[in-house]
Amino acid sequence: MKILITGGAGFIGSHLADRLLENGDDEVFIVDDLSTGRLANVEQNQDNERFHLVVDTILNEAVMNELVFKCDQIYHMAAAVGVKLIMNRPVETLETNVKGTEMILMLANRYKKRVLIASSSEVYGKIMDGENTSLLVEDTDRLMGSTTKRRWAYACSKALDEFLALAYFEEKKLPVIITRLFNTVGPRQTGQYGMVIPNFVQKALINKPITVYGDGNQSRSFTYIADVIDVLIKLMAEPEAVGKIFNVGNEEEVTIKDLALMVKEMTGSSSEIEYIPYEKAYGPGYEDMQRRCPDITRLKDFMHFKPKTDLKGTIQSVIDYYKK
Ligand code: UDP
Repeated sequence: MKILITGGAGFIGSHLADRLLENGDDEVFIVDDLSTGRLANVEQNQDNERFHLVVDTILNEAVMNELVFKCDQIYHMAAAVGVKLIMNRPVETLETNVKGTEMILMLANRYKKRVLIASSSEVYGKIMDGENTSLLVEDTDRLMGSTTKRRWAYACSKALDEFLALAYFEEKKLPVIITRLFNTVGPRQTGQYGMVIPNFVQKALINKPITVYGDGNQSRSFTYIADVIDVLIKLMAEPEAVGKIFNVGNEEEVTIKDLALMVKEMTGSSSEIEYIPYEKAYGPGYEDMQRRCPDITRLKDFMHFKPKTDLKGTIQSVIDYYKK
């Protein structure tokens, strides 16, 4: 088979490409504009005849038309990622996420190719403190902040991607699968765009202060990259997954305060743990989610999903990567 990965030089896309190349004799095409993706993430595949790299934007219709026409399946992973990037470059975020997905769906529909869309747990928006603290189920109501708060632009752009994908499925019978990825972590993830674990690990390894934003009582659940890749490949192969949305995450939950302590302990670091107001970290008008933990019943029912790597193993993989 010929498989296209948009954003294939990014953190998740490059791991997906590696796995597909390892698994069998598929040919893998990746397209990446190297905005947040890096050549270093794919250089191990340079001599592989079944690997093809196209450096371009997914908004280039002529290039994308050819790739979509050629390939049998599309994993659409290209997106503006990372809270820092989203806060600093809102135009790019909206354009990449909205126009990019529009382009992929339009072309996939032209040739009726199966598409898996990487959406985000951001679409759940905020859960108010003390209000709805339950696990997030795929069909739950969402609460978005004001349009003057930039963070929600990302959430809304991903939600729009989902609406468009579902519309293509329902109206035009395009085979689409939507995955809502929760915080995914592992080697190759950069801390440059805000992600908490690579940030904490990098600071801890050089004994610089580990910076916790807010009071650190906000919680997240982190999934190891290899577990996420397992799910993406299985869902793509499953005809019953078409037209559905899946939470892809881990039920193990941790507060950011405890995460900082874990990283400090696991690295044997002498870093101090510093608490910084959100405003100082992200600029004015930032709103954080207090809790974001998935209900993964749908995924479990579908494929008996059980993450193989726990939080400790996930953190360790990042420590090993940055030590190297
Ligand atoms: N965070 C932090 N210090 C950092 C980076 C992030 O305390 O250096 C916090 C952030 O405010 C959020 C959580 O860690 O509450 C997860 O942040 P990340 O950007 O990794 O992902 P998010 O879940 O916010 O998309």
